[in-house]
Amino acid sequence: MSDPALHALQQIFGYDAFRSEQQAIIQHLIDGGDALVLMPTGGGKSLCYQIPALVREGTGIVVSPLIALMQDQVDALTELGVKAAYLNSSQDWRVAREVEQAFINGELDLLYVAPERLLTDRCLDMLARGKIALFAIDEAHCVSQWGHDFRPEYLGLSFLAQRWPDVPRIALTATATAETRTEIAQRLGLDKAPHFVASFDRPNISYLIVEKAEVRKQLLQFIQQYHHGDCGIVYCLSRNRVEDTAAFLQSHGINALPYHAGLPSDLRAKNQNRFLREEGIVMVATIAFGMGVNKPDVRFVAHIDLPKSIEGYYQETGRAGRDGEPATAWLAYGLQDVVQLHRMVSESNGEATHLRNQARKIDAMLGLCETVTCRRQLLLDYFGQPIQPCGNCDTCLEPPETWDGTVAAQKLLSAIYRLWRECGQAFGAAHIIDILRGKETERVKSNSHQGLSVFGVGADLSINEWRSILRQLIAYKVIEVQPENYGTLSLTEHSKAVLKGDRTVMLRKDSNVKAVNTIRPQEEQLPPEAQACFERLRVWRAQTAKAHEVPPYIIFNNATLTEVALLRPATLNELGQISGIGAKKLASYGADLLACLDEYEQALVE
Ligand code: ADP
Ligand code: ZN
Repeated sequence: MSDPALHALQQIFGYDAFRSEQQAIIQHLIDGGDALVLMPTGGGKSLCYQIPALVREGTGIVVSPLIALMQDQVDALTELGVKAAYLNSSQDWRVAREVEQAFINGELDLLYVAPERLLTDRCLDMLARGKIALFAIDEAHCVSQWGHDFRPEYLGLSFLAQRWPDVPRIALTATATAETRTEIAQRLGLDKAPHFVASFDRPNISYLIVEKAEVRKQLLQFIQQYHHGDCGIVYCLSRNRVEDTAAFLQSHGINALPYHAGLPSDLRAKNQNRFLREEGIVMVATIAFGMGVNKPDVRFVAHIDLPKSIEGYYQETGRAGRDGEPATAWLAYGLQDVVQLHRMVSESNGEATHLRNQARKIDAMLGLCETVTCRRQLLLDYFGQPIQPCGNCDTCLEPPETWDGTVAAQKLLSAIYRLWRECGQAFGAAHIIDILRGKETERVKSNSHQGLSVFGVGADLSINEWRSILRQLIAYKVIEVQPENYGTLSLTEHSKAVLKGDRTVMLRKDSNVKAVNTIRPQEEQLPPEAQACFERLRVWRAQTAKAHEVPPYIIFNNATLTEVALLRPATLNELGQISGIGAKKLASYGADLLACLDEYEQALVE
């Protein structure tokens, strides 16, 4: 085979063919070009810089924000026979010195470095003494100040372009909006680099969004019903909620662990390690957890609070099903979430345009929750990639019923308008709903609001129905939560048309009985005998992983074991044909694996 990139893919990684944009990106880098790569989480970004680093002369320097995960990346590469190392502050100085020397001697294919470390004099001196194949800047959206993961250390990275103008640079991210993309290109000095944009669709993820009632119970039910024993991640907005929710799940027999930035760092590391190495752990976490976590068999990602933006939501849910097998993204949300997020924005300091931008993102996220059309269509539309309805989200599987909510909307809008006209003041959701429902609360009485013409005009609907209507009107931008004013409501430029009866408002009927895709991963659909074989291989993998002190999926992923269980190869040559088994792994584990199969077959005969 003459093409060195394809050769590396097949020999080292054990895969047959490149995915979508990989080949073009890899060729462009090998030829010395810079690139900006946008691919969804799980799309296969790592190969885009790993293969050029192997093919080009010198070492590929990978800038990665999370030191806690460098070890796993280096372990995975070492298993493949790639010479990889990392430099970070968790390391003994003697080990760091050895790594530096190995780089200078030209002994490394890949070197992972944290951004703050990279820009130290010591590190720059070291880099000047060796040969650099390329710079890869992973999680490049961290350079965006208006984004959802800003890391100030990333701003310094534009320096690389000035210092090493001839070394190709590749920036990679899963955050795809046009504005983030432009900002990354500007800040990293990649203005002339071509953008490689892969499809952002993750067809194996099924989206399911429900209205909050008793959220912890809903979550428990979801896990018990659809993902019992599966590995998953549950995202919460606050540290307290992380701890409460983890304890609640544990008390109901779910193998849950907490993770947030307030836990002692050794406990955090321990929980993360268990999540990566054991099977079936549910990590309950703040968004501090997950970036760089490459565990392929996460079967669900649940959000029990509304995320702040579609970008964040998509990145977090993308951590499910990296192995391409069916996975679920579950979200529970309520009006309270919307109000609370807006309040957090209004309490943060920042320029007015920045705050407005944040508020807009919350409303776009709410729009996803309230949509009556395909969720995936809306998500991909947000990233500028139109598609047909997907058939694998709750609204596609069971289209929501709609009703004409024009009159209800008019009542709500008039209440906001009257209050503003007669009191010169805006109020929050709870008070407005009380007025509509004719509740004589203390607040109503002390403001004499029972005298308003709108008092009691909405007594026919329940609190929950009003909350639902309000959320949808916010999502349709007919009402707005004022960012400067602590969650109070006001009219917008679109309100008038509704009030005058020029616009009909169709609303979705809330129902929490939603259709779910219940297809299970391949390894669970094997014929009974192959299934038994798979289980045997899984035990072998667990023992081997333990002996090597790496997570099981670094030895072989489930897809590879599934194929082995189905085909039962008898020779090393046959084994080497299976996807995910490259030369080094064949040499390390081939004989062992064949012996394990042999033993299994012997047992069958007896
Ligand atoms: P990302 O960094 O974009 O989230 P990864 O680089 O971790 O994604 O890749 C996701 C998974 O897909 C990994 O398990 C990886 O080994 C696998 N993968 C990537 N490219 C290919 C390919 N061409 N063929 C088969 N599997 C691939
Ligand atoms: Zn759909």
